Amino acid sequence: MTNQRDGTGMSRKLHVKSYGCQMNVYDSQRMADMLASEGFSETVEPQEADVLILNTCHIREKAVEKVYSELGRIRRLKSRAAREGRHVLVAVAGCVAQAEGEEIIRRAPTVDLVFGPQSYHRLPELIARASGGSKVVDTEFPVEDKFDHLAPASREATKARGANAFVTVQEGCDKFCTFCVVPYTRGAEMSRPVAKLIAEVERLADAGVREIRLIGQNVNAYHGEGPDGRTWSLARLLHRLADIPGVARLRYTTSHPRDMDDDLIAAHRDLAALMPQLPVQSGSDRILAAMNRRHTSADYRSVIDRLRAARPDIALTSDFIVGFPGETESDFADTLALVDAVGYAGAFSFKYSPRPGTPAADRADQVAEDAKADRLARLQQAIDRDAAAFNKTLLGRTIDVLFEKAGRRSGQLIGRSPYLQPVQVMAPTSFLGEIAPVRITALGTNSLFGMLAKAPHLHGIVPPTASAGL
Ligand code: SAM
Ligand code: SF4
Repeated sequence: MTNQRDGTGMSRKLHVKSYGCQMNVYDSQRMADMLASEGFSETVEPQEADVLILNTCHIREKAVEKVYSELGRIRRLKSRAAREGRHVLVAVAGCVAQAEGEEIIRRAPTVDLVFGPQSYHRLPELIARASGGSKVVDTEFPVEDKFDHLAPASREATKARGANAFVTVQEGCDKFCTFCVVPYTRGAEMSRPVAKLIAEVERLADAGVREIRLIGQNVNAYHGEGPDGRTWSLARLLHRLADIPGVARLRYTTSHPRDMDDDLIAAHRDLAALMPQLPVQSGSDRILAAMNRRHTSADYRSVIDRLRAARPDIALTSDFIVGFPGETESDFADTLALVDAVGYAGAFSFKYSPRPGTPAADRADQVAEDAKADRLARLQQAIDRDAAAFNKTLLGRTIDVLFEKAGRRSGQLIGRSPYLQPVQVMAPTSFLGEIAPVRITALGTNSLFGMLAKAPHLHGIVPPTASAGL
């Protein structure tokens, strides 16, 4: 392997700035893990970095503009470092890199390296080439599996990242919704083999991670090779991962309603560790068809009914797009009616943003910006109303909270409910990384307040290694 330490034996510093989805956060961590084994240490300060990576997202509007304006700031930072005799290597990674390729170096000559989401396992070699002074662009979709070449996180790095961790189980998508760039930037759908995922989750749990979030652009399309040589579904994978000692919570995101099969619905009934959360897309039937979602609003409602029958306390979340080309007030009224009927615990909602190269971007019937903004505000109001109603049902109840970090007030910790809301609790720091019952005493705008259901000394909190058999 190339040694990236400089002549003084000091390790070089790496700063990765992540934009967008959880998958990018995971990818950024894997880049840092990969470069850690090459002698790089991470810094949160961009001005200290010898290698600076922007890991970009292309899913929604202004992504490209944001990257170029950040590169303007980085150009000045790079010039300052050069005056001090330091060379800073600037790289652009992720989906904007994949979509823009060489154009990035043409528009921003400060950039030394451009690489797509399928190339980051080659990072040490790419950095070595770019350090030699040549501009490097790598946006191939290689035949080898990048996950086979990635260094695992060290135990210390995993511990420092806290009680929950992302694990990418599948990548890419073959569904080609007409608004979405993912099939173009992330490529065809691929699923990682079960044995590799078990090994990764075992390592994380052993380092004290209690909540595993399985991620993928379309995670319930998972169909990985099992140790028995058969193809495993997401449901089968979840059952296996739930058996790993130390794994107390399992989540998965993001899903497509068409891939919600009977086994996955049953898993919500059977697995205590599987946390009730399910993001799903929606809209009026006419718009769903134009989006190429290949399901109707009634199909979607029936999936929800089956999920609620399997797990009555399921807290549903969703993604919505308003102002898709051709969307009328009456289509939008159908979306609001769906929200009213389902009663979400929370949801993400976005204004449609034309993505170059996708079919919907070329339609002549684009919706005016002010109509999109108006619909978004109305939709968010409806979602907030339902989220507040859901939170109210938790008042006075005792729920399990996974403690993640210190709060702003002294003596306060912030954790997460099974339904993903932040919960603020006065508790000793020994609770960090642990799950304890909390009685919800008050509701804030974006979080809940609670108190430990038992006095701290009655919780029997022990260090994670000793509690690994839980
Ligand atoms: N696979 C998931 C599904 O089919 O529901 C969605 C994953 S997508 C990467 C995440 C979310 O970004 C989508 O659910 C959608 O709401 C939003 N999104 C994607 N493309 C968009 C666009 N062109 N404009 C606005 N929002 C978009
Ligand atoms: Fe994009 Fe999801 Fe549609 Fe795939 S299923 S194209 S990731 S929105």
